[in-house]
Amino acid sequence: MKIITVIGARPQFIKAAVISHAIRQIAATGADMEEYLLHTGQHYDPNMSALFFSQLDLPAPKWHLACGNDISAMKKAITPILESEQPDIVIVYGDTNSTLAGAEAAHELTIPVAHIEAGLRSFNNSMPEENNRILTDRIATWRFCPTSTAMTNLQAEGLTEQNYLVGDVMYDAALLFMPDEQEQRELLKRYDLQSKQFVLATIHRAATAENVPALTAIIQALAQIPMSVLLPLHPHTAKTVNSSPALQQLLAQATNIRIIEPVGYREMLALERNARYIITDSGGMQKEAYFQRTPCITLREQTEWTETVLAGWNHLAGTDTQTILQALNQSFAQQPIDEYGDGHSAQQILRILCPNAF
Ligand code: UDP
Repeated sequence: MKIITVIGARPQFIKAAVISHAIRQIAATGADMEEYLLHTGQHYDPNMSALFFSQLDLPAPKWHLACGNDISAMKKAITPILESEQPDIVIVYGDTNSTLAGAEAAHELTIPVAHIEAGLRSFNNSMPEENNRILTDRIATWRFCPTSTAMTNLQAEGLTEQNYLVGDVMYDAALLFMPDEQEQRELLKRYDLQSKQFVLATIHRAATAENVPALTAIIQALAQIPMSVLLPLHPHTAKTVNSSPALQQLLAQATNIRIIEPVGYREMLALERNARYIITDSGGMQKEAYFQRTPCITLREQTEWTETVLAGWNHLAGTDTQTILQALNQSFAQQPIDEYGDGHSAQQILRILCPNAF
């Protein structure tokens, strides 16, 4: 069985690392299974891409394209590769342009597509990610859902076959790659932070990262938090900051905010566990906050991870300064969430995709 996995963005490297690891374990038992990675080049900065391959023990991509973030360029480059390789399955993850390009290229060649992290919906159609999710789910052969809400969303769209509730590969990843306590202490020392006495913030979604008024309002909120704020800055957001003297001035005055380069996944897990709060517009980090039992404030009006809000671990604050600050002062009810699986989602997925390998 030949699998080609199409990836291109940071969260996909993390998800693919878990499945790839499981495939290699199964192949080592003599099962007929091989996987090759195709990297679209969507994320290319070393600390957004190469760092993840080395840290998460991901094999080097067999094909490393340089398509940027353009879906049609990606499809055009992926199609001839799939045509000549004729894999049995193409795996895609999540909701980026690489996800949709990989799924459409495979589908048009009648190659079965497995969509991991299927069924998630924010019901905000202005998000490019929402469009990518919906279209990918429509053409996928197998839809692997991380939550029961995702299963319900697919049913509501009339997608009733081949939906599987398998838990979240990101939970597998958080268990697999979590640094031990010694490493966590060393990392905090490196950034001169005390456990549970700092806020970890990330901003990268187009709606915020490219929007100077929204970024200004968020940074004004971060600047008023009476605690250190560590902000690993996504290149997308850094570009907006660098082009705005007003934002640069605001950041220079905000002495509690420390901007660093994006960090590796293992460092991120350690920072998430030790933060007092996480403030983010990331999809993945809302759940990771729960995995590490750290309260989260989400800089969006909607989330596809609704269970984190219902269980009181996550408050949706949008990008208004006062709403963000008020969210920090609200209580976090913190009920357990009975979702995301048991840390063995990768095995469950592979049992469904490749039953003969077991
Ligand atoms: N992440 C990381 N380093 C960083 C910021 C994020 O390793 O500096 C990880 C984070 O822990 C999560 C994933 O990247 O697993 C989330 O990616 P991102 O926020 O880019 O995308 P989203 O989840 O919103 O699709």
